Amino acid sequence: MISKLKLQTILIIALTVSLVFIIDNNLPSNSHQPTSSDDLTIILMIGDGMGFEQVRMARYTEVGKNTNLTMENLLLNLSVMTHNVNLGITDSAAAATAIATGIKTYNGRIAVAPNGSANKTILEIALEMGKATGVVTTTSIQHATPASFMTHVYSRSNYDEITKQIVENADVDVLLGGGLNYFSEEQITAMTNDGYSFATNNSALSSITSGRILGLFSDSHMPYEQERNLTNTPSLAEMTNKAINILDQNSSGFFLMVEGGRIDHASHDNEKVGAILETIAFDLAVKEAKNYVETHENSILIITADHETGGPKIIGDLLDGILPVSGLTEDQNRTIRIARANQIDVTWSTGGHTRNHVPLYAYGEAFENITSNLLIDNTDIFGIMNNFLHEEEIILIDRTPVNMLPYYTLYILLVPITITLIYLIVKTKRSIKLRK
Ligand SMILES: [Zn+2]
Repeated sequence: MISKLKLQTILIIALTVSLVFIIDNNLPSNSHQPTSSDDLTIILMIGDGMGFEQVRMARYTEVGKNTNLTMENLLLNLSVMTHNVNLGITDSAAAATAIATGIKTYNGRIAVAPNGSANKTILEIALEMGKATGVVTTTSIQHATPASFMTHVYSRSNYDEITKQIVENADVDVLLGGGLNYFSEEQITAMTNDGYSFATNNSALSSITSGRILGLFSDSHMPYEQERNLTNTPSLAEMTNKAINILDQNSSGFFLMVEGGRIDHASHDNEKVGAILETIAFDLAVKEAKNYVETHENSILIITADHETGGPKIIGDLLDGILPVSGLTEDQNRTIRIARANQIDVTWSTGGHTRNHVPLYAYGEAFENITSNLLIDNTDIFGIMNNFLHEEEIILIDRTPVNMLPYYTLYILLVPITITLIYLIVKTKRSIKLRK
């Protein structure tokens, strides 16, 4: 009699534990409440076409196999799904729209939802909150990724409309990149009349220390890092540093989007040296942003990619021990990087974009209680930024498809356990009755 009751107790405990386990596994995994302040600042960095393997190739080249790049060393490491609204392979327009507005759309659309609505971008939300805003890129500033934060256009190729909206509506304080050719003289004049300092080379950029800036350093995309005139044309890190210094003068905080735009172009061409040097230039810009976030507790840094391009894979290397170092000139380090990149053997699976997940690295106090290695969706990135700006909890749900096998096994076991339990209860009741 007593042993039967004990057995029942054990079974009930086992059942309760299993149920708690099942429920617990379906709860949101992480959350954090940011501290209250009105100078909340976001630096979002997007490596266009930068998958995990591009990052690994850059790591091999810049710091060696067993050391991390700056971005890899940050607090939080996640993976991001990049598919567009049709569940197809995304382009930069649909992906940047997902990140900027939280809504997945068709390829080619610039911050325009599938139903045609122009949802507010995170940059526009920051602007409404009185924050300073900036966009920095190595492509033309009319290109899909930067455009998706500042404008709303049905087709990414409509550069006239994108330029018009940048000049007339966007109200972005710092604009640095390429794309001079797509501005008319009148449009440049309109912007300088509107208070923008205009720069087309590095020395002009250096001399600007406050106010609004329009810096256009190339007719179209900026030159690849491999070909960049190191004196006249600013690097992505230099542009990022300048943007941060200007935007930080606003006491209400700022939103800055920085794009390493040409990792994608080199990867389309399956050009490993180009892809590697562009990724390293991006990581050097990350270092600038990290330095800022390190000393400004109300700021966050998010680094991700819009999609992966080329599907590269390292298949071997003949790397020597000579690494780029801070004591050498920029030119000497570039020569070392090119030599090292050539010592790595890479195969490519395509000349287009892939479905591969992309990395997300993040830094800042707001992420302290969030666990790494989750899989999130690109629309979640908007959610993180929007919640941070509104001082709401940052909640990340792991979107890794759940392996149901253990659950099925558990359910199958539960059937005989439950039958036995009922049988025991009935039998115990009967024996008690009979005794009476
Ligand atoms: Zn591309």
